[in-house]
Amino acid sequence: MIVMKFGGTSIGDAAAIRRTISIITKKMRSKPVVVVSACSGVTNLLHQLVDFTEEGEKEKSEQIISSIKQRHKSTVDELASGVDPKRPTPDTAEINQKIDTLCNSLWTLSKAHMGGQIPDADKAYMISLGEYLSSNIVCFMMNALGLKTAWLDARHFMITSHDYLTAAADVPEVQKRATSVIERAFKNADAVITQGFMGVTIEGDPTIMGRGSSDYSASLLGMVLDADRIEIWTDVDGICTADPNIVPEARGISKLSYEEAAELARFGAKVLHPLSIEPAASKNIPLYVLNSMNPDCEGTVVMNRSCIFDGVKSISYNENIRMINIYSPKMINTSGFMSKIFGIFERQGVSVDMISTAEASVTVTVDASVNTDPLAAALSKLGNVTVDRDKSQVSIIGKNLIGVKGAVAAVFEAVSDSKIYMMSQGSSFLNLSIVVDRPEMTAVIRKLHKSFFENGN
Ligand code: ASP
Ligand code: MG
Repeated sequence: MIVMKFGGTSIGDAAAIRRTISIITKKMRSKPVVVVSACSGVTNLLHQLVDFTEEGEKEKSEQIISSIKQRHKSTVDELASGVDPKRPTPDTAEINQKIDTLCNSLWTLSKAHMGGQIPDADKAYMISLGEYLSSNIVCFMMNALGLKTAWLDARHFMITSHDYLTAAADVPEVQKRATSVIERAFKNADAVITQGFMGVTIEGDPTIMGRGSSDYSASLLGMVLDADRIEIWTDVDGICTADPNIVPEARGISKLSYEEAAELARFGAKVLHPLSIEPAASKNIPLYVLNSMNPDCEGTVVMNRSCIFDGVKSISYNENIRMINIYSPKMINTSGFMSKIFGIFERQGVSVDMISTAEASVTVTVDASVNTDPLAAALSKLGNVTVDRDKSQVSIIGKNLIGVKGAVAAVFEAVSDSKIYMMSQGSSFLNLSIVVDRPEMTAVIRKLHKSFFENGN
């Protein structure tokens, strides 16, 4: 069995769906379990619908639903009309009926909550509708092309916590259900199609697992099914040596360890959802990142570290971070100060990225999305607090960086014209990070890329 996940752009329109189906067709003998996202842009529209509904914007809500309906119906029409003339023209009545029913249920919920607060479970249902629509359309088309495909509701096996909009999978419960449900679906089919992103509480209330979580759904499913491989099909040639929008010379990386991929997924490389690495790693299942627009490209395989060479694999970054410095002479020669500082971060639910300490001060970095005002207010009870904005974190990621001769020297060389505010090498030797001024970030990344990956490296 293999798990293949297709993201929004891989099923964004009729042409993309055709390309995706031809990719699946080549894998029919491997018992593919296909996990899909919503068609590109649809989840955003559904979020807007939820907002408009709560704001009481009846007309705008209606418009969104009708544009969602229109978009999916015209995709169906285009797909049906493009079928090989030697095949019977597919009957679209049933799929159009499904689209109507799903969009009607959106409208029913929107009307019922117009101008009021939508309960989270209903919100989760509404926002997950994009995946119901896309999976039904891909399933319809596969069957129209003679590929025996079963449609499976992910809510039959993806049991989650009760955090309706940011739910966590209940892995033992998913494990209990998935194998039998999927085996049953394969009884009368050669492929099974299901949805990413959505789940259900043990009582049966709809949930979703957070933006971009379809990768995680696929990886988790691969793990519980003991899949031979997990394929994440997206619209880029795998994971790259740097963000190609910043470094035009960036190229695909052919192999990465799970640990390296997890570091890269933390920020910057948005190709994989950060949670998607662990399930594959826990069973040593190779996880491929492939391009549905360029299926012949070999992409990136993420696998066990024993098969991976030491050295720098990629330059990653977090463009907008803040640096918080706590200065306190009281810290000198005392113990327990750190725990007081981190107690405050814990109570405020803020995660720290980098940290550096001196005798009388501690500096940490946080993402710019963190509201630093209440944090600074609480920390100021411990000492003098300053918050520096408009900084960027740049990291070189790779296996066993400590063993890479000249890596640190190359970093210093690359940033010799810029100020480095912080520097840290993680104890796992997977990541060497620096903090620079935000306007310098692009130049620093390009110089690092040149020194590690260009010039014949
Ligand atoms: N459709 C969802 C989103 O846009 C889930 C995903 O694409 O992974 O966030
Ligand atoms: Mg994604």
